[in-house]
Amino acid sequence: MSATPLSVLEHVFGYHAFRGQQGEIVEHVANGGDALVLMPTGGGKSLCYQVPALLRDGCAVVVSPLIALMQDQVDTLKELGVAAAFLNSTVDLDAAREIERDFLSGRLKLLYVAPERLMTPRFMGLIKSGPVSLFAIDEAHCVSQWGHDFRPEYLQLSILADDFPGVPRIALTATADHATREEIAERLRLKGARQFVSSFDRPNLRYTIVEKQNGRDQLLSFIRREHEGESGIVYCLSRKKVEDTAAWLREKQIRAYPYHAGLDASTRANHQKIFLRDEGVVMVATIAFGMGIDKPDVRFVAHLDLPKSIENYYQETGRAGRDGLPANAWLTYGLNDLMLLTQMIEGSNTPDEQKMVERRKLDAMLGFVEATDCRRQTLLGYFGEATQACGNCDNCLNPPKLVDVSDAARKALSCVFRTGNRFGVGHLVDVLLGKDNAKVREHCHQTVSTYGIGKDTPEATWRAIFRQLVARGALQLSPESRGGLALADSARPILKGEAEVFLRARSETFTAKSRDAGF
Ligand code: ADP
Ligand code: ZN
Repeated sequence: MSATPLSVLEHVFGYHAFRGQQGEIVEHVANGGDALVLMPTGGGKSLCYQVPALLRDGCAVVVSPLIALMQDQVDTLKELGVAAAFLNSTVDLDAAREIERDFLSGRLKLLYVAPERLMTPRFMGLIKSGPVSLFAIDEAHCVSQWGHDFRPEYLQLSILADDFPGVPRIALTATADHATREEIAERLRLKGARQFVSSFDRPNLRYTIVEKQNGRDQLLSFIRREHEGESGIVYCLSRKKVEDTAAWLREKQIRAYPYHAGLDASTRANHQKIFLRDEGVVMVATIAFGMGIDKPDVRFVAHLDLPKSIENYYQETGRAGRDGLPANAWLTYGLNDLMLLTQMIEGSNTPDEQKMVERRKLDAMLGFVEATDCRRQTLLGYFGEATQACGNCDNCLNPPKLVDVSDAARKALSCVFRTGNRFGVGHLVDVLLGKDNAKVREHCHQTVSTYGIGKDTPEATWRAIFRQLVARGALQLSPESRGGLALADSARPILKGEAEVFLRARSETFTAKSRDAGF
C-alpha cells in the first residue's frame, strides 16, 4: 500500500486531520508544485513540507535561519523515527561528513541547513550529486529588504530555480503583507508558485486599547477585574520597566515574575519554568520572552508600551488563548510611547533605509491604536485579509465618538495617485497644504489638482488620516520608491464613496502633542 498524506500524518506524526490549508498545500507540493505559504505562527507550517518530504523520493533540503529552531525540529523528527539532520556551524567536521554520506546514500529524508551554508560550493556540489525531493525555505520574509529580518544570503536562494528546475520549492512565512509577499515571489523566483494565504484571525481574542493615564494602575485594575488568579504576559519596552512593574505587581499580591535578556540564564529559565508549570502566574517581560513558548492557557497579553509594529503586536498578542478559549489582548498607549519609540529609531545606528521602514511600521501601529472601527478588521486588513466587524473588540463593543474624515481621506488618496504613487507622508501633506518648497517645485506638484486642497485641515490631522489609511490597507509601501506610499486595493471603496473613514474625536488633540502629565 502506498503512503498518502493522511496516512503519513497519522502514522508518523500521530495527528488525525490536517489543519486549515495544510492538506491542500501538502498535496500540491507532494505532486511537485511550487508554493508560497503565509500562515500565522503556530498555524502548523512545518508539516506543510515535512509530510511531502516523506511522500517524495529523496531528501528535502530545508533552509532555516534559526539554529535553535533547526535543532528543535530535527530532535522532534528523530523522536518520531524520521531520518533527519541539520548542518550548521555547530556541527563538527566528522559529524558533517557522516550526514553527507547519509544524504548521498538516500537514507536521509530531511536535511536542515543555514542559508549561508547552502550557498557554499561544497554543499551545492553535494546536493547536485544526490536526490533532492524538494526545497523548503522557512522564514521566507528574510528575503525582503523592507523587513526587519533581512538576510542577504536569502537573495541567492533564487538560483535554486535554475539549478534544480524539476525540484519543487515551498517558501513559508508568518509575516508578510501583500507587498512583501509579491517581493518574496519575485526574489525567490516563485512568481508562478501557488500562494496559500491562511486566515490570521484569532476569534477568541478580544482586543482592547486604552489611552494611558497611569498605565500601571490601569493594568492592575484590568487584571483584578478580569483575570484574578489567571496566567498572563505583560510586555514592557525596557528591562528596568519590566523589573519595576513585576516588583510593583507583587506588592499588590499578584504572582508576577520578571523576564528579560539582562537576567542571568538560570533566573530566566527558572521564571519560565514557574510560568509554564503553575497557574495564575503573570510574566512581566520584554519581547525577549515568548519565542517558542507554547502555553495554551495564557488568558491575557497586556502591553504597557506600544509595540514597534503591527506584526509585533500580532505575534505577541497571539500568545494568548492558544487553547481557543476566550482571552484578552489589552494595550495601553500614550504620547510618550510614541516619542520613546521614535527616539529609539532615530538614535539607532541602522541604515537610513531601515529607519524609514521602521518609521512606517510604527506609523501603521499608531494608525491601528487610533482606529475607530473594528480592531480585528483593521488588524486583518493590514495582513491583506477582509472580514466583517467582529463584535469582540473595544470599538465594536463600545463604539467611540467619531469625526467623519471620508472627504479628507479621498483627497489624501487622490493626492497619492496624482503624484504618482511614490511619495512619503511628509511630502504628500505639503502638497495637500499647498506648501511652496523646493521638493514641491522640483516635481511640479503645484500643478497637480490636489495641490492646496487641504489647507483647512491641520497637518496633524492629515498625518492621522494617512496613518489610518496605511493601517486599514488603503495605502501600502510603494513598490517603486523607498518610503513612498502607493494606493492599495482597499483604497477603491473609499475613493468611490462606498466606505467611510473616521477619526476618534480626540485623536486630533492627541496628535497635536497633548501636554497632559499622564502621557
Ligand atoms: P508554525 O511553524 O506555523 O509556527 P508549527 O509547525 O511549529 O507552527 O506547529 C505548531 C504546533 O501545531 C505544533 O505543536 C504542531 O505539532 C501542531 N500542529 C500542526 N499541525 C497540526 C495538525 N494537523 N494537527 C494537530 N496539531 C498540529
Ligand atoms: Zn471588532
